[in-house]
Order: sequence, then structure tokens, then C-alpha cells
Amino acid sequence: MNPILDNHCHLDSEEGMGIAAVEDFSKSGGTHMLVVNQHSWRGGKNPTDISDFEERFYQTIEIVEQATEVLQGRAWSVLGIHPALISRLVEDGQTVKEAGKFMCEGLDMAAKMIDRGDAIALKSGRPHYEVSQEIWEMSNEVLRHAISLAAKMGIAVQLHTEETEDLSEVSDWAIEMGLPWQKVVKHFAGGVCKGVTPSVISRKEELERAIQSGKPFMMETDYLDDLRRPGAVLGMKTVPKRTKLLRERGYEELMEVAHVDTPEMVYGIKTRD
Ligand SMILES: [Zn+2]
Repeated sequence: MNPILDNHCHLDSEEGMGIAAVEDFSKSGGTHMLVVNQHSWRGGKNPTDISDFEERFYQTIEIVEQATEVLQGRAWSVLGIHPALISRLVEDGQTVKEAGKFMCEGLDMAAKMIDRGDAIALKSGRPHYEVSQEIWEMSNEVLRHAISLAAKMGIAVQLHTEETEDLSEVSDWAIEMGLPWQKVVKHFAGGVCKGVTPSVISRKEELERAIQSGKPFMMETDYLDDLRRPGAVLGMKTVPKRTKLLRERGYEELMEVAHVDTPEMVYGIKTRD
């Protein structure tokens, strides 16, 4: 069995396909997945209490256990706070400072659950769209808080950021705080990203660029598992399909790096026993 890992996807047993999506992935040859919690305003209502985050985290942990039963390999949870939440909270009347503090508390809770062994990595970032200077600065504060937690625990952090191929500013913060830059992962990367480990969105063009770069990368779909938005991102079968094609084209070694060596370097997980 050749390991095939989707480094960033979502599963939702209430509004999406849930375990049926994992079955599709497995039937196509997928073996391992990192499942990121759905954002906390799913259902249209903003979180108002820390327990709203907790509920999302537990939903993720629960479906990851079920996914592990289906997979030849296993699934792991990634927990955190979506960076777009800050704008939603401010629109709802919170000050930027209050919103930032609330998001940091959510990250603290995620860190606690990771510490207990319920998940393996944090998720944070900063808005991918235009925001005010005040929101941008606070978002960077929240992001630095996530990095400091990851540094203390020696774990990885997946980042949702603006579209960019250079996050060396962020990796400098990580290095200063004692977190190896390799453990900072840019989710939805376009093939390459300076300073961090790219988790490449598995479209042909982006994968081609990642391959040409010769640098370690991982592959993801950012599968949303939302039946109201079919095809909004890539389907769950994409990573296995593309991986098989790339192996056939002779990129066996690179696929071993993407699905075995890089995940081990970043998260300390073993996908090949
Ligand atoms: Zn996502």
C-alpha cells in the first residue's frame, strides 16, 4: 500500500456527506487525512461563547474517529480558529481587541485538546481579503499567539493566509519563538511558498509548480463537505487520483516525499509502517 494523505479537508456529518466522503476517498486509494474543524459560524450564527468553539472541535474529533475506522491508514484532527472570524465579530459589534482576545481563547482551548492527544496540529492565519490596518494588526497578533502555542508544544500550525508565495515574515516569527519553520504550513498553497511548508491545492497547475520547485510539499483538497456548495473546492477523490497519475508519470520519489517524509517532518506522524 502506498500512503496517500490529504493534508487539509473538512468533514460534516450534518450538512455534508460525512463518512460517505471518507469512503470515496478510501475507494480511490486514499489512506490518511488531516481533518480541520468547520468554521465556528457554520449555520450562519457567530460563536458567542468559548463553548461554541468547543462544540466544533468535538464534532471534528468524533468524525475523525469514525473516519479512522473506514481508512486503511487513519485520520487526525487539526483544530483552530478561522481568521475570517475577526471581521464577522466586528460586524456584530465587538471591538477589534475583544474579537482578537476571543479568538486567542479559542486557540488556547484547541491547544489544550491537542495536549490531551485529541488532535495533532493547530489552525490559524490571517484574512485573505482586504481589511483595515487595525484588523490586520490584530490578526497578526492572533497568528503570533497560535505560533507561540505551537512553539511551546512543539507542534505544527496550518495557516490560512492571503494569496502569497512568500511567508518569510511569518516564519521569522516562528523561528524567533522557537518553532522550526518547517512546522508552519501554508494551507491552499499555489505550489510554492517561501519560508514555510506548502500544502498544495491539488489542481494540475499548482502541483506542476510544486514538482518543478524540488522542495518538500504536501497535497490537499480543502474539501468543504457542504451539500449546498457542491464543487466549491476539490472533491475528496482528487488527491488519490492525482497522486496515482503522478506516480505513473515517474514522480514516485516526490510522491513519497509528499505523503510520507514531509508529514513526518511536519507533524511527526507515520503514514508508512
Ligand atoms: Zn479549509
